[in-house]
Amino acid sequence: MHEPTVAEALTRALKRCCPRCGAEGLFASRFRLGERCGQCDLVFRKEAGAMTGQMYLSAVVTELFAGALVLLLWFFTDLSTPQALALGLPLVVGFSYLVLPPSMAIWVAVEFLSDRVGERADRRA
Ligand SMILES: [Zn+2]
Repeated sequence: MHEPTVAEALTRALKRCCPRCGAEGLFASRFRLGERCGQCDLVFRKEAGAMTGQMYLSAVVTELFAGALVLLLWFFTDLSTPQALALGLPLVVGFSYLVLPPSMAIWVAVEFLSDRVGERADRRA
């Protein structure tokens, strides 16, 4: 089987496909990963704690969005603080929900790629 490049694995994951083979079915539902790939048997959901990186990734992206939104509201609007909070908080919460599935998908690809690097190192040893 053709080993995907880093860009291919990440692109496949962002398309909600298996980062290894590109088969559809990375997600069982909108916010829930499938167990494993039906075509190549890659495990998407590993042990508890394996997805901690995905949580950090989505938190960092959401915080960057929130920071940019605060600056935008501060410098480009005349909103009062309560008005800015009333507008900004729902936007940040909504954004965090939108960014969650891509973060999960990217993290599956990162896990796959890092496992592959580890397997190559083991073979050389
Ligand atoms: Zn697969």
